[in-house]
Amino acid sequence: GTGPSGRPPWLRPRPTSGAAAEEEAYRRSPCEEEEEEAAAAGKWRCPEHSSREAELFCGHCRRCVCALCPVLGAHRGHPVRLIREEAVLKQKLTNECLKKLAFKKKQEVDNIKQISKAADDLKNHALASKTWLTEKFTQLRLLLDEEEALAKKFIDKNTEHALRTYDEQVDLCQDQINDISSFSDQVRRIQKQLDPVQLLQDYTATEKEIQQQMIPAEQWHPVPVTFEHVKNYFKCFAGAVQNNVQTPLEVRLKED
Ligand SMILES: [Zn+2]
Ligand SMILES: [Zn+2]
Repeated sequence: GTGPSGRPPWLRPRPTSGAAAEEEAYRRSPCEEEEEEAAAAGKWRCPEHSSREAELFCGHCRRCVCALCPVLGAHRGHPVRLIREEAVLKQKLTNECLKKLAFKKKQEVDNIKQISKAADDLKNHALASKTWLTEKFTQLRLLLDEEEALAKKFIDKNTEHALRTYDEQVDLCQDQINDISSFSDQVRRIQKQLDPVQLLQDYTATEKEIQQQMIPAEQWHPVPVTFEHVKNYFKCFAGAVQNNVQTPLEVRLKED
């Protein structure tokens, strides 16, 4: 939108002195036209008494009159001054006016300087802000890259640990198989003993171990390792960012 002066709101005018009253006083009066006609004739004449020369200026009616007018004519009692004196006075006033116009012109030149400076400052500020954003987003990207690397490292570390545990369990099972094989050989030898007394003696000697070895093997149920919690965590993480970004940027900037 624009301000009351019609200028956009970011251009605020500075207060100026009201010169409207002065301007009113210098309006072109109707007598000027008559005077111009008289000037063309060669001599200034009184508009009331055409035979008399205009010598005075009536301050009330703002026109040139003859010496008779303020005494007997239409300008009786009006404040008058000699035309030459009045002209000198007006020259002083026009001089004052020219000074003020020069000052006003300088003010407008200053205004242009100020606005140009504001425009240059704005351009520099915009550039600096974008550079700042580049740095900030680079940092953010690095931070995210680091977070991704850490999350993958976490998965690798836990996978390795679980695989090592699985390997150890496989080794234990293999040891059990070796034990079972060697004990099976021992039991087979007892079984093949031809001397029944010796068979009984051998069996009795290993009877306790036979009982123990017949207990079924422990059943391994490997603890499943999942990384669902890692995925869930980063799903929330990404969701929070996406949720934030969903609102248009201009709306988010206004909320701040
Ligand atoms: Zn007169
Ligand atoms: Zn008068």
